[in-house]
Amino acid sequence: MTDASTSVRVRFAPSPSGDLHVGNIRTALYNWAYARHTGGTFVLRIEDTDRARVTDEYIHAALDTLRWLGLDWDEGPEVGGRYGPYRQSERQQIFREWTERFLAEGHAYHCYCSTEELEERRAEARKRGAPTGYDGHCRELTREQVAAYQAEGRRPVVRFRMPEGSTTFTDLIRGEVTFDHAYVPDFVLSRADGMPLYTLAVAVDDVLMKVTDILRGEDLLSSTPRQIAVYRAMGVPEAEFPRFGHLPYVLGQDGQKLSKRNGVVSIAWYRHEGFLPEAMCNYLGLLGWSPGDDREEFSLAEMAQEFAIERVNKNSAQFDMKKLEAINGDKIRALDGADFTARMTPFLQRAGLVGHPLNDEERRMVDGGAPLVQERIGRLTEAPGMLGFLFVDERHFSVDPESAARALQAESRPALEGAMKALDGLASWDHDAIETALRGALVDGLGLKPRVAFTPVRVAVTGRRVSPPLFESIELLGRDRTLARLSSALGSLPG
Ligand code: GLU
Ligand code: ZN
Repeated sequence: MTDASTSVRVRFAPSPSGDLHVGNIRTALYNWAYARHTGGTFVLRIEDTDRARVTDEYIHAALDTLRWLGLDWDEGPEVGGRYGPYRQSERQQIFREWTERFLAEGHAYHCYCSTEELEERRAEARKRGAPTGYDGHCRELTREQVAAYQAEGRRPVVRFRMPEGSTTFTDLIRGEVTFDHAYVPDFVLSRADGMPLYTLAVAVDDVLMKVTDILRGEDLLSSTPRQIAVYRAMGVPEAEFPRFGHLPYVLGQDGQKLSKRNGVVSIAWYRHEGFLPEAMCNYLGLLGWSPGDDREEFSLAEMAQEFAIERVNKNSAQFDMKKLEAINGDKIRALDGADFTARMTPFLQRAGLVGHPLNDEERRMVDGGAPLVQERIGRLTEAPGMLGFLFVDERHFSVDPESAARALQAESRPALEGAMKALDGLASWDHDAIETALRGALVDGLGLKPRVAFTPVRVAVTGRRVSPPLFESIELLGRDRTLARLSSALGSLPG
């Protein structure tokens, strides 16, 4: 495989025509990990020859997503490198030159067939049960035929002349794969307007950028014989062809290929919904690979250390949101406190609970509230719901109606009154003192069961039956606000 003189060069080559999705990022992650594991180079190349679909906005979003995940690239947009530019839209001249050369050397030819003619012949072939790909119609046009087409005003595409025979290569994941060229028709290299198409651009760039290994999705397996044919036409020696490894599909819960229809594919969505990049990388790392023991949680650095293509699964992996959430919860708990606070804050800001930037009082509440929820949430988006009671103005504070119906009833009166009395004169305002006082007054004094004693207090003070720890919450909220809420809950009791 790789000898010492040729260090690994891998690339991630998205064509962002929307948000990067789960499959893209798993591909990026495996390439990144392979490069880091081998001390090789991770190249980012943007395949944006189709400028109608791949916009600058999507490209920027893609770079942002990669950075958010921690997948840094050694060569590529905004970083540079010896083999740039790394946006294919800036490499048109290169593709044009290769197209000309292929035409001159007979590896390619002009095809004048119109879309309608191609359609018609495809339909006929289908009827006959023959292969439906391009039929080679324009392979050997005479001078007169060409002149006639040109006189009609037709503008040709350039097609690659697929040689007869077959292509066999050893896929790094699937082993030996063979394609009979009877099923690999001559394909379009560039459109009539000169725009280079995927197969030309990807093959030329993988060669020019000295890519050694191509890890990518299984959906691209069938384009491999075409790419290999282009390498040959370019005169690349067989020993220098990039190796291919095709990652199996990611499936949704219904066993079909993961898509918008059976799952959530956009990485931007996961980010927005409060998943940590650490959790995404860990979970996507596990979707088709494992560190070789039964460990299910690891960091990016650990994945890089242990990545081996031999342990990439041949079988498709099923996306499991529950498992991703479990990993996310663990990664949230593992953050150090300040880091957690910093990551949670934008979610509070987005919910409109605090300003941007935080003022001093908000800062105090956020710092105090963060430790109360870090152990209890599976997604950062749960933080605003749990901590919201700290940030609402007393005039706007309201109790969730369902919690009120369950916990603020006539029989709650003694607990609420007892709590007010106990807290009103409390000498030191900290959670231990608050707990001692409330237990003393309600449980020991009134003989209430703890649940009966504390549920109305919790609902009155936090607005919900499920909240961060009660005594810490009361401490943070402060005496005045706590007493005001207890009093307003008392006022709301029926009967
Ligand atoms: N640009 C192609 C895509 O986004 C992938 C190219 C490749 O990995 O060969 O689907
Ligand atoms: Zn043709």
